[in-house]
Amino acid sequence: MTIDGAVPPSGATQTSTGMVRVTHHHPALTALAAEGLAAFQRWGDEVGESTFVRTGCAFRVDSQPSLADAGIAAGGSLVDGRALRSHFPGLRCPDEALAVWEDEAGHADPLQCTRQYLGRVGETRRAFVTALRAGHLDTTDGSIEADRVIIATGAWAPELVPELPVRPRRIVWQRLRVRHPRSIGPSYIDEEESLYARWEAADTILASTNCKEFDIHLGEEASPISSSFLARGRTTVTRRLGIEVVGPSEPIDGFDAFTPDGIPIIDVCEDGKTYLATGFCGVGFKLAPSVGRHLADWVLTGDRPGPLAAFATRT
Ligand SMILES: Cc1cc2nc3c(=O)[nH]c(=O)nc-3n(C[C@H](O)[C@H](O)[C@H](O)COP(=O)(O)OP(=O)(O)OC[C@H]3O[C@@H](n4cnc5c(N)ncnc54)[C@H](O)[C@@H]3O)c2cc1C
Repeated sequence: MTIDGAVPPSGATQTSTGMVRVTHHHPALTALAAEGLAAFQRWGDEVGESTFVRTGCAFRVDSQPSLADAGIAAGGSLVDGRALRSHFPGLRCPDEALAVWEDEAGHADPLQCTRQYLGRVGETRRAFVTALRAGHLDTTDGSIEADRVIIATGAWAPELVPELPVRPRRIVWQRLRVRHPRSIGPSYIDEEESLYARWEAADTILASTNCKEFDIHLGEEASPISSSFLARGRTTVTRRLGIEVVGPSEPIDGFDAFTPDGIPIIDVCEDGKTYLATGFCGVGFKLAPSVGRHLADWVLTGDRPGPLAAFATRT
């Protein structure tokens, strides 16, 4: 049974830009992302109508050899500035630039994917869980006894497990209209420039130009995104990617659960009945299929699957 206080997808998944790529800083995350990508590629056979669009993705790794190694180990290839410019006409980068090129990467629609997953679930109940104790749930729709419970309440997880080291942080992207529409190209990530970008349509690009997420407080209204912040983002896209955009842009204003070390928490509590899957730190959409599969195995067998070993709770 799935219980959600709102109509899913809500929370972070609702605003996710749906990039599905593999290279991450932590090898265990890269491994989960590789499994996730494979699941998106098989989606049509296993879940429902696929929304996955293969575009390729370049992740700049100029001075990050360990990141390059992770991407190559996961099937990516190392490319230089010249090769990058063949994928991104207009890109400003030196010939000696380095990036991991993921040919199979792409994006999928988080709203449709969630709805399709929910269509496969036995029962979905709309209720807030207000308290949880070793398999006993108090909800706004009465009490429920359960052998096993998975808490996957994103940034709200500490409301049910207060000791969790998870905080909500705001993530802002923007939807930008392109002056000269073109066919959908690859995604691009340059952490040094704080630039994440992916095409949505021939005339629209989604971009995040602030990798520094902001702290927020759940239940309190967040301050509006300033027009100068958005204008700086538009300038960065034009300056770095060589793509002319026309304003005003539409902010995509979301938040996710962040852990202090940037690694999710996927674990079981001392009661042996309560499992945790939270703290996805802005990268969790692509991981959902692999996290879900491994958690299901864990719940059914009682044995922690190897790929989840790195995600035990840190205090
Ligand atoms: C702007 C933005 C862009 C992003 N882009 C990407 C991307 O390109 N690729 C990528 O891989 N990831 C991306 N992410 C990250 C990704 O969206 C999240 O990591 C992921 O969706 C987290 O999913 P979740 O299920 O843990 O949490 P959520 O999606 O937040 O879901 C939590 C759910 O728990 C429910 N809930 C909370 N408390 C209770 C309660 N007490 N009782 C009942 N229900 C409750 C909520 O209603 C909600 O439905 C992005 C995030 C944002 C904000």
